[in-house]
Amino acid sequence: MKKSKTEFAIDIEEMKRTFKKMKQKGEEFNGIYHSHPSAAPFPSKTDIKYASYPEAAYFILSLKGKEPAVRCYSIKGRRALPISVRAF
Ligand SMILES: [Zn+2]
Repeated sequence: MKKSKTEFAIDIEEMKRTFKKMKQKGEEFNGIYHSHPSAAPFPSKTDIKYASYPEAAYFILSLKGKEPAVRCYSIKGRRALPISVRAF
């Protein structure tokens, strides 16, 4: 992938290694997060287009405002729906 200030991609081989390690440790895959350094915490068209895990929660951290903001979404069938989460 060419360098970009607005897009990113995770290496598929790295993803495969990560999922393998998680399986070995008995860990569950529940979500993905990424940041928007200069944009609001809403899924971009690209985020939605390439969302490949309908079972996952997609966390987006925005650093646009004075305080960091985190939002979470379920992205299925090219639709992003906000979901609430709580840390415990
Ligand atoms: Zn994004």
